[in-house]
Amino acid sequence: MSAVMPTYARVDIAFERGDGAYLYTADGHRFLDFGTGIAVTTLGHAHPRLVAALTAQAGKVWHTSNLYNIEGQTRLAERLAANSFADTVFFCNSGAEALEGTIKVARKAQYHAGHPERVRVVAFEGAFHGRTLATLAAGDNEKAREGFGPVVEGFDHVAFGNANEVRSAITAETAAILVEPVQGESGIRPPGVDFLKQLRQICDEFGLLLAYDEVQTGVGHTGKLFAYQHNGVAPDIMALAKGLGGGFPIGAVLATDAAAAGMVAGTHGSTFGGNPLACACANTVLDVLLEDGFLAHAAEMGRLLMARIREVIAAHGSVLETVRGQGLLIGMKCVVPNADLVTALRDRRVLAVPAGDNVCRFIPPLIIEESHVDEAIAALDDACAALAR
Ligand SMILES: *Cc1c(COP(=O)(O)O)cnc(C)c1O
Repeated sequence: MSAVMPTYARVDIAFERGDGAYLYTADGHRFLDFGTGIAVTTLGHAHPRLVAALTAQAGKVWHTSNLYNIEGQTRLAERLAANSFADTVFFCNSGAEALEGTIKVARKAQYHAGHPERVRVVAFEGAFHGRTLATLAAGDNEKAREGFGPVVEGFDHVAFGNANEVRSAITAETAAILVEPVQGESGIRPPGVDFLKQLRQICDEFGLLLAYDEVQTGVGHTGKLFAYQHNGVAPDIMALAKGLGGGFPIGAVLATDAAAAGMVAGTHGSTFGGNPLACACANTVLDVLLEDGFLAHAAEMGRLLMARIREVIAAHGSVLETVRGQGLLIGMKCVVPNADLVTALRDRRVLAVPAGDNVCRFIPPLIIEESHVDEAIAALDDACAALAR
């Protein structure tokens, strides 16, 4: 067995450095990175402000633990709260951990409100929430659970986008509804216009918490800071990670005061969560994203990319079927196997990411310009022409 446990089907390429929207191999080949390490490198590679913030913090202090106040963490929490529905934030290191925290906050809120029996979470078919034991149970991938022992109790799955099924799944033991505003791993699947609104109504009616998994959709990728802001339906709890640190690991659980009422000292913790290095990066990502016009530009690039992809689809209907998504989180449903398109794009030095439902994802960094769109579209057009033959 390889020294690195072989849990990934890796492509045999390694990148030595990155610069903006590009990655470079040691032998000097340049790739346009329209995968961003799966929605992580929000500002592209080696962004000068991120490099400056991380190195400045590295020269001061790396880690003190949450035994003490961490100035950058306080500032980051205040800014996330000021720019969302939330009042309070818990920091961790990854998406799965943010979801674990989200589930814990939801259950504790019900317990704190005098409903210890309310522990179950309604989740959705096609959902992905991570690879820990509880998040595997919350997600909808039977195969990923195989061989890992008893499945964590307390998750009821219903069809994504079907409010009637949600209603019928609710029992006296239901605590919360957990949903991705746009399902990422299962193929950039939006749920339909009014679904989140319906979930909000159901939660209000039954006294449940509405929890969003914005690990993939959050931090600008849909053209707004958070995907839920497109239709204004606020949750009670929200998980973030991936793009938040621009490539430095950090996750977060955002919550209202009411939802977090039971989360007092000693109820939850994380050694590394929100450490000074991570918060220096995340604060810099927010500095850039919140600048006037930055997200509007990303949204504009998303519209352009989507329109250009539609032209490619019109010309290559035997390879590509449809395109969906929002902002710079885009899924192209393939006619040919999606892995073939990802490979054909990589052969043309463009990185894309496969997803479920035979989808090929473009998730470019938010800093792209029209020239990057041109370059990706030329490669896509050429790849489709080759695959059509
Ligand atoms: C990636 C992802 C996760 C898991 O994040 P990790 O950092 O890999 O644990 C959870 N939810 C969604 C929607 C994701 O896209």
